[in-house]
Amino acid sequence: MLKRSETLLGLDRAECAVLVDEAGEPAYRAQQIMEGVYRQRAESVEEISTLPLPLRRKLSEQGLSIGWPVVEKKFVSQDGTVRYLIAFADGQSIETVWMPSGDGGEAGDGTEAGDSEELFAGNSVPSPSAAKAAADFGALTARLKAAPFQGNIEDRGGVNVRGEVNDQGEVNDQGEVNDQGGVNDQGEVGEQVEDDDRISPQSVRALAAGDESGAALKRGATQNQWVQYQRATICVSSQVGCAVDCQFCLTALLGVKRNLSAGEIVGQVCAVLKDQKVAPPQDRINLVFMGMGEPFLNYDNFIKAVRLLVEEVGIAESRMTVSTAGIVPRIHDFGLEAIRPKLAISLNASNDELRERLMPLNRKWNLEKLLAAARDFPLRNRERITFEYVLLREVNDSRQNAAEVVELLRGMRAKVNLIALNPGPGIDFQTPAEDRVAAFQKVLVKAGIPTFVRRPRGRDIYAACGQLKRTVEILPAEAPATT
Ligand code: SF4
Repeated sequence: MLKRSETLLGLDRAECAVLVDEAGEPAYRAQQIMEGVYRQRAESVEEISTLPLPLRRKLSEQGLSIGWPVVEKKFVSQDGTVRYLIAFADGQSIETVWMPSGDGGEAGDGTEAGDSEELFAGNSVPSPSAAKAAADFGALTARLKAAPFQGNIEDRGGVNVRGEVNDQGEVNDQGEVNDQGGVNDQGEVGEQVEDDDRISPQSVRALAAGDESGAALKRGATQNQWVQYQRATICVSSQVGCAVDCQFCLTALLGVKRNLSAGEIVGQVCAVLKDQKVAPPQDRINLVFMGMGEPFLNYDNFIKAVRLLVEEVGIAESRMTVSTAGIVPRIHDFGLEAIRPKLAISLNASNDELRERLMPLNRKWNLEKLLAAARDFPLRNRERITFEYVLLREVNDSRQNAAEVVELLRGMRAKVNLIALNPGPGIDFQTPAEDRVAAFQKVLVKAGIPTFVRRPRGRDIYAACGQLKRTVEILPAEAPATT
């Protein structure tokens, strides 16, 4: 027995069934093992409580382990973002980022999650649910402002905690609801004030004790009949390093060391879920495959991990987005998958000359090929393709560039996420001026393309877009403080 695998993480149901069969155990044990690994997230085989003790011991003695990666370090940003350095059995490590309240990139993506923000961005016709969410949000904000508070949570009139309700309940200057505004992933608004107008004492205590994961709020809230309305996003890595060599990306400086296995991709997500004490589907967790690596250059493992995350861990595919730099053949394959996240394409330039300079892979798959694949991509109802555009000061951030992007995307069901460059050591580009970002956005919005400026998350800990790089390879003098 155990010829095929010494670790359980990464096995799908069929593979687990073979393992159980080879061990001479009844078939239903496979289900128990899958639940023990992916739902219970047991620390070891001996902790899978649904298996009889003698079997647990037998499996352990035969060398079977779950294969959890190890959280080696955590860096906590002022904005609540947590960057994890996660190590695997061979000593290689990657980084995974936890962003409470999402990453701001969900807006306008065709899911319910984006409805309210889409409305506030003022650049598309809101759905009825979005309109209701916005109306409810206004009412909620007014009630929260008037509500009595216990404890010294925040002094600016909102429920603080990582921005579940923003500090003034207002829309930010990009026209988005800042800090997610307390509208949940379903476009609904929390109903906590129906039962209790105060922040729960449990939450106050949990927060005072430093537990800001959002689970604290939820646990406290549950006891006071609060309805959870927060969400979080995990940014997932797919390779150790990256071979694509985008010129504005810190990860690119690493080169590629190896692909992650499906188990390692799932393992990093579960490690973060465990650390944050959250459990989907009850807790609303979004995944973005936008960490280290190009997922479409590790396609089979990435797709297997997606299936495991959907079917075993319980995160809906509609809550996942994968970003590719433009591996055109895999975009075609991806469109045929029965279970797939939403697609984002890292565009970053408005013409081939510029894109070749910023993203050398454009020589292989130029804009014509890339956008043809995007136009062919079979979108689901209300789905849009996201185009990510990292703005680099006076390189790709002019109105002319914006006008060219409009032409590239004309007629496509697309939205654009603008990301002002996150600076870092070894990167030769600068962050654009705010007025240029706003002007760029305005050109696209005017042309009818939903366009959002993503909030930088965890910039102070190198956790923002394009900044992920194994912490051990950042010079000590440049490394931000750890916790
Ligand atoms: S931006 Fe993404 S694809 Fe490009 S080098 Fe960085 S990790 Fe790789």
